[in-house]
Amino acid sequence: MTVVVKPKALVDAKVRDFQMLIDGKWGAAAEGRTLERVAPGHGVTISRYPAATKADAERAIAAARKAFDDGPWPRMTASERSLILLRAADMIAARADELAYLDCIESGKPISQAKGELGGAADIWRYAAALARDLHGESYNTLGDGTLGVVLREAIGVVSIITPWNFPFLIVSQKLPFALAAGCTTVVKPSELTSGSTLVLGEILEAAGVPAGVVNIITGTGPDVGAVMTSHPDVDMVSFTGSTGVGKLTMSNAAQTLKKVSLELGGKNPQIVFPDANLDDFIDAAVFGAYFNAGECCNAGSRLIVHRDIADEVVRRVAELSAKVKVGDPLDPSTQVGAIITPQHLEKIVGYVSAAAGNGATVSHGGAALDLGSGQFMSPTILSAVTPDMAVAREEVFGPVLSVLTFETTDEAIRIANSIDYGLSAGVWSRDFDTCLTIGRKVRAGTVWMNTFMDGASELPFGGYRQSGLGRELGRHAVEDYTETKTLNMHIGGRTAMWMPRRNGLLSTAKREEKGGRDA
Ligand code: NDP
Repeated sequence: MTVVVKPKALVDAKVRDFQMLIDGKWGAAAEGRTLERVAPGHGVTISRYPAATKADAERAIAAARKAFDDGPWPRMTASERSLILLRAADMIAARADELAYLDCIESGKPISQAKGELGGAADIWRYAAALARDLHGESYNTLGDGTLGVVLREAIGVVSIITPWNFPFLIVSQKLPFALAAGCTTVVKPSELTSGSTLVLGEILEAAGVPAGVVNIITGTGPDVGAVMTSHPDVDMVSFTGSTGVGKLTMSNAAQTLKKVSLELGGKNPQIVFPDANLDDFIDAAVFGAYFNAGECCNAGSRLIVHRDIADEVVRRVAELSAKVKVGDPLDPSTQVGAIITPQHLEKIVGYVSAAAGNGATVSHGGAALDLGSGQFMSPTILSAVTPDMAVAREEVFGPVLSVLTFETTDEAIRIANSIDYGLSAGVWSRDFDTCLTIGRKVRAGTVWMNTFMDGASELPFGGYRQSGLGRELGRHAVEDYTETKTLNMHIGGRTAMWMPRRNGLLSTAKREEKGGRDA
């Protein structure tokens, strides 16, 4: 059984018509085409965005290039940029309800969760504002009397930012404020499914004082627009979050002009639980980790790796709690699991479950799509008796589907955890300090939670090992990611070591060495 909250009809819903932002001007796409977004929980069209073309992307890149090469943004003091970012953070907080509504209705995530994400996003903008003022290089006064070495941090230039649909406002907030803090200019492309809140962010940034051309926001599809943004020679860096497949494509496009790339990609994250764990806490975290954001989350705890001695109890208790999770209307404040992003994606999720069942896994809870009268929904699902070779144990399902595997020894748990291509995050549950630290050190993942799951803070770096990505977001080095390092090697006094021999005056390097390093 699943507790369902039937979506209420959106009787008053109007289609919101958005424009995109290029060089400080709001407008339609060059060819005038649009994309429509149907609310995944309600089945009605709610947003219309411009369908940008290659020409639009090129115009946006040209605007960002000009703003970087000639505009005021990279030349302002960090304190001026920081003030603008702080103003933006206040405006995000002031418009949080509107932004959360857009994310909720376009992505299908529960409204209570969307509001929480907006609070987190405003905090990230404030954190980036603080880091902006601390961005600095290094100096070396230790290189001898004749040399002073200064290492500068310079904004890297024009950054393409490409974001997915699962956390529309939060993910752009993990990238854009740090790029801006460094003095970069940007072209931003949100997912074609959830562009609304990013476009409202454009209004906020204009009002906060970000000059024209610094943030250009174009809407359209990856193949039409994203491909230009990742390959254009005037772009210096690409920051991408999405699937591992498109991440690889991004890297290969960027390689043609050797752009820097930062990639946040997929995950198949294990929660490893030992018999001495606080099981009450763990069961709650298992359900939260698997079903938060309907499992459409790169950090989802989609694999439970459970000690054999407690496996039956864990499956029974996780199933009992799963039956209490409220699934349904994203706009209902009590909903915990909202809608699935598209009908095609729901089909993919159901396909993974059927294939696993066909290969010997047991459906211990859920296992099917839910018909709630509108939109598309999936029942929270537990698959037990999963073996490490099954697709559900190795691939990102991106739905509310939990796979349960078992282990006997710590080494075996680590081996199973590390046996896949991903390495984004992991959790370990035990009251034993040695056990937690051993797992923490040996599991190859960018974040390991101990006796908690999916906690985060703007101060803590986030990113993946192996095919989960490249680079880290957040944390105190987040602004540095958007910089180049330049060395100024400064000579003081006359030239001490000549390369070419001279008749009088200074000796050549060779002669100087002969004379024990002294000049004539
Ligand atoms: P994608 O990787 O396709 O989309 C992410 C972003 O990349 C979107 O803005 C998309 O544009 C854009 N994009 C698509 N193709 C290109 C391209 N050729 N060049 C540049 N940008 C491109 O993810 P999906 O939305 O299709 O989701 C598919 C799977 O990816 C999910 O099932 C899940 O497994 C994984 N995923 C992982 C995420 C994460 O947080 N790590 C987030 C989202 C998905 P557009 O969609 O507008 O065409």
